[in-house]
Amino acid sequence: MRRGIPVSPGIAIGTAYVIHQIYVSPSSKRLEDFEITAELANYETARDKAASDLLALERKVDAQVGHEEASIFAVHQSILRDTAFTKKIRGWIVDERMAAPAALHRLLGEYTALFTKTKDDYLQERLNDVRDVILRLSGHMTEVTKPQSSIEGPLIVVTDELLPSQAVMLGDADVQGIVTQAGSQTSHAAIIARSRGIPAVSGVKKILRKVKTGDTIVVDGRYGTVEINPGIETLTAYRKLEREFFDLKDKLAANRDLPATTVDNVDLQLLANINGENDAIAAERMGASGIGLYRTEYLYLTHQDVPDEEQQYSVYRKIIEASPNREVTIRTLDIGGDKTVAYLGHDHKEANPFMGWRSIRLSFEHPEFFNTQIRAIVRAASDVPDSTTRIMFPMVTTLEEVRKLRSMVRRAYKTLETRGIKTRKIEVGMMLEVPAAAVSIETMLDQVDFVSIGSNDLVQYLMAADRDNPKVSHLCQPLAPPVLITLKRVIEACNRSNTPVTLCGEMAGKPGAFLLLLGMGLRRFSMSPAFVPSIKQLTRQVSIKQAEQILETAMKFKTTAKVKHYMAETVGELAPDLQLLSSR
Ligand code: PEP
Ligand code: MG
Repeated sequence: MRRGIPVSPGIAIGTAYVIHQIYVSPSSKRLEDFEITAELANYETARDKAASDLLALERKVDAQVGHEEASIFAVHQSILRDTAFTKKIRGWIVDERMAAPAALHRLLGEYTALFTKTKDDYLQERLNDVRDVILRLSGHMTEVTKPQSSIEGPLIVVTDELLPSQAVMLGDADVQGIVTQAGSQTSHAAIIARSRGIPAVSGVKKILRKVKTGDTIVVDGRYGTVEINPGIETLTAYRKLEREFFDLKDKLAANRDLPATTVDNVDLQLLANINGENDAIAAERMGASGIGLYRTEYLYLTHQDVPDEEQQYSVYRKIIEASPNREVTIRTLDIGGDKTVAYLGHDHKEANPFMGWRSIRLSFEHPEFFNTQIRAIVRAASDVPDSTTRIMFPMVTTLEEVRKLRSMVRRAYKTLETRGIKTRKIEVGMMLEVPAAAVSIETMLDQVDFVSIGSNDLVQYLMAADRDNPKVSHLCQPLAPPVLITLKRVIEACNRSNTPVTLCGEMAGKPGAFLLLLGMGLRRFSMSPAFVPSIKQLTRQVSIKQAEQILETAMKFKTTAKVKHYMAETVGELAPDLQLLSSR
């Protein structure tokens, strides 16, 4: 058994399909004189094929998924056209008589050495793009990396980190589980797995050395464990669990049209967090009642420069149209911290990026781009009939910021009016994720139409424990008593002033945390689409009174460990089957 990080819950059993990032050892044979021209031609043919693959992929993804997701393949085409890239490969073929696959392998080595020195996630992602292009090129020259069509599903994909093109390719295959060697809760593989409800485990050290295509693999997304070719007894036990997991998923999927109403008839809003149009479609499928958080930064991360007003407008419109009940809360750019965009001046290193130049702090310093985004949101919100679109600003710290943001929204209306564009008033809200704002929330409430608690950040700032650093993950805990005290205060303050309040951090989709938030008076929850069915099930099994009692007991415990233990026990008693659908 191997251990990793549980990133998407559930149990999956299947045949391993190992995707090596690059063929392991290309031939080191030196070319003869007469072979050089043929090898150059070989490389050019592979380039042509890769270019037409990428164009076809871009069109397909654009039509079937969305423009922003497709743009990654335009980036790949530009890497393929890059003259320095091709010059190096051709140079090594001619001057050093290397076969093209070996030259590609060497180039990948150079890029890897260059990029791995950086801790910058954005650059790391660009390395994935370069790697993806090299993999595609080499796939056209060797047989090794081509998908093996003889492998029968259900498949468990085992890879270092899932690349964007691989993720698209997997769309057609019967993939039931994902295991990655690298990666974390926020890696590409984790996000895809969660949004599709596929069990997944990331960060499993050396897994690529232990597994070969064709092995039987069990993925346990509850505990983050992976079994390779297990014995018959283990396999039988897991098969039983897997059946229960499927039955539960079917049962929960049948809930999708039922209202999220508690036993004592209180209606809740179960909303979804999305990064793009396909997530909005998943949210509809899972029975979410709207979108509580649309993270627009993915639109920027997949562009080489700032998307203009028209491009943004059309993406936002599509998202609104695809969303359940056409209800969407669009968050303005939340870049900085671990996500950087070089074209917005992120070419320098900060000592404390999470406490530095991120979110609105950065947007304020790029007023031309910030105003463009606000205008695009207001326009899209005004143009889609029967929709409720709201604009939300991340990382709000002070009252002055709120006032400034409101005046920027007013300015957007004015500019659009002078252009003769008809607009509708939209609600303006703040994310509450900085402790200073939590402490002084009462002073801000009359300036905002709604509040959304970003507990992922609020917890890390409150506990002074980086959300992405495994060394301090014992501190970065949403069920820590100081976090519960803060959340309760904020929710009560919002309710007292009749300001709608939502929580859109990861904890909203976790049964134990959900019960406590319900007890605190929260009625709007926004989560990964895949968690909506199980939280709906729980909603329909509990009363507000029960949740209040659970909260009262939980708040008496003085340590995180005690709260966690009590909540695990409580969820176990209240909804034992849901344990199959939660990650520890
Ligand atoms: C949060 O901080 O809880 C949140 C929802 O925003 P993000 O995870 O994008 O920072
Ligand atoms: Mg946040």
